[in-house]
Amino acid sequence: VLFDLRPKNTRSDLFDREVELGRFVEYVGGLGLPITLVLGFRRVGKSSLILVAIREMGLPSIYIDLRKFEERQYLSYRDFILELQHEVNNLTSRFPGLLDFLRNISGVSIMGNQVLFSWKSSNRASLSSLLDALNDWASNGVVIVLDEAPELVKARGFNVLPVFAYAYDNLRKVRFIISGSKMGLLYRFLRIRDPESPLFGRAMDIVELSPFTRDQVAEFLRRGFEELGIEFRDFDAVYEELGGIPGWLTYFGLRYYEYRDLDKAINETMSYATALIMQEFHNFLTDKAAAKDRYLAIMRIVARECAGWGEIKNGLEVALGMEVSDSRISEYLRQLLDSAWIIKVGNKYCPAEPLIGAAFRT
Ligand code: ADP
Ligand code: MG
Repeated sequence: VLFDLRPKNTRSDLFDREVELGRFVEYVGGLGLPITLVLGFRRVGKSSLILVAIREMGLPSIYIDLRKFEERQYLSYRDFILELQHEVNNLTSRFPGLLDFLRNISGVSIMGNQVLFSWKSSNRASLSSLLDALNDWASNGVVIVLDEAPELVKARGFNVLPVFAYAYDNLRKVRFIISGSKMGLLYRFLRIRDPESPLFGRAMDIVELSPFTRDQVAEFLRRGFEELGIEFRDFDAVYEELGGIPGWLTYFGLRYYEYRDLDKAINETMSYATALIMQEFHNFLTDKAAAKDRYLAIMRIVARECAGWGEIKNGLEVALGMEVSDSRISEYLRQLLDSAWIIKVGNKYCPAEPLIGAAFRT
């Protein structure tokens, strides 16, 4: 069903995205580069696209969901390796033959049919050996997904970039899918343009997901309500109020199904979205120390109306009752852009999507 809050994992539950799916399968299925980036705002459908595409391709995969670390201040090697261990065990339970390839890796032990990774610094499971093993085992390819990879900027005591670079250069069967809602942060994490970075100069394929257009919103809602046997026509009102982010539209669909009342369903979706957005903004602020109020003030300024650099500086100084240096303003805006809280439209900064704007107006 279309109105299901979980990421979709079957083609029939995924609305449209034909073009993106086609591209994805072409890139990851063999013709493309070793790394494919999947970019787009939160709740635009990245995880859904990845899950559906992997299933369509029928390739074995390891799916590391880094979003669960969003509220954390940092990520240890142990956190990472336990996620990986869990996923590798899923894979070996489907493909027991893989166990033989994992046996002799340092830091990896096998008890019965359970694979155990060590995180102790004296005997860390070697990620590059693990990838070697997967590469040797896979006949048609193996896909490694790092969903919401920008969370890895919080990694402490380990760095996955050299391992990616090694796999990129040497392991033809291993394909990486790296997704990120915080697109600027993702690029900063990968450091493709930094000569000091292990991934310097490596080209990557990109699949970018946009919010639904007005027409797509209408069609998405029509199809979703048709599945539920409901007549619905107020597509435009929904698009005006909620915009085109599939995650919000899905939530709206469920609420409308429950209440059969347009205003009530829209209001409920707005308050749900506001709560979630503010929670996520709170996570964004965790490492912003004394500047928290400033980020909040800037978001309130652009939520009222898209604003130019100078207007934001003025507005912020008025809100704080003190001067703020130009370089600070630029830094705040860069951070907000990198984490996709705002976007630049011409010379103005605007909320990245309508409900972000709404959340900071309440
Ligand atoms: P992201 O990973 O970009 O944050 P998700 O894949 O988790 O987004 O999708 C957010 C919500 O929107 C989920 O409830 C998902 O089911 C729904 N959704 C996203 N894209 C689509 C689509 N193309 N068709 C149907 N539902 C979708
Ligand atoms: Mg996701």
